[in-house]
Amino acid sequence: MADDNLQILIKRLSKLPGLGPRSAQRAALVLIKNKERDMLPLSKALSEVARYYKPCIQCNNLTELEKCSICNDLRRDESKLCIVEDVSDLWAMEKAGIFQGKYYVLGGNLNILDGRGPIELGINKLVDYVKSMCAANSACEIILATSATVEGQTTAHYIAESLQGLSATISRLAHGVPVGGELNYLDDGTLALAMKARTPVS
Ligand SMILES: [Zn+2]
Repeated sequence: MADDNLQILIKRLSKLPGLGPRSAQRAALVLIKNKERDMLPLSKALSEVARYYKPCIQCNNLTELEKCSICNDLRRDESKLCIVEDVSDLWAMEKAGIFQGKYYVLGGNLNILDGRGPIELGINKLVDYVKSMCAANSACEIILATSATVEGQTTAHYIAESLQGLSATISRLAHGVPVGGELNYLDDGTLALAMKARTPVS
């Protein structure tokens, strides 16, 4: 029988996405067997990321600096802002190489029952960001790239309402995103099509 620390490790691993108790046990044993090669570097990587990574002050992407590399990149189009649910969606868009503007990561969707309202999602911060974008660029575009789930649609709708009155054009990812589909599960081609075929939100 495993002792306390090992039990804690297995329990923690089993809470990770895609790992149940059995795979957590297996992973823990593999790590112990390969202590020098796998376990110690993993432990170091975990503590470094925990210590240094935090949300970018401008867009909530993960970064070791105050502002992330995308916000700091002067070559990116500052007149386009793509709003995504999670950092994984931003990674999917970047991997597909279909967007050269800036991002805003919401960190989830509106879900009042789960305690995620407009304040928790930082909608005020987003509105301020868009205001400063519109002030600096004569034509700016906001692309709502939340999931095609009910929550994602509700969130997109709420954001579109909150941005009413600003001069930004608002569009939404369109064809190719299956209903109920989460962005980061789409292949690059589908994602590219969804971006290309984005439709204006009236
Ligand atoms: Zn950023």
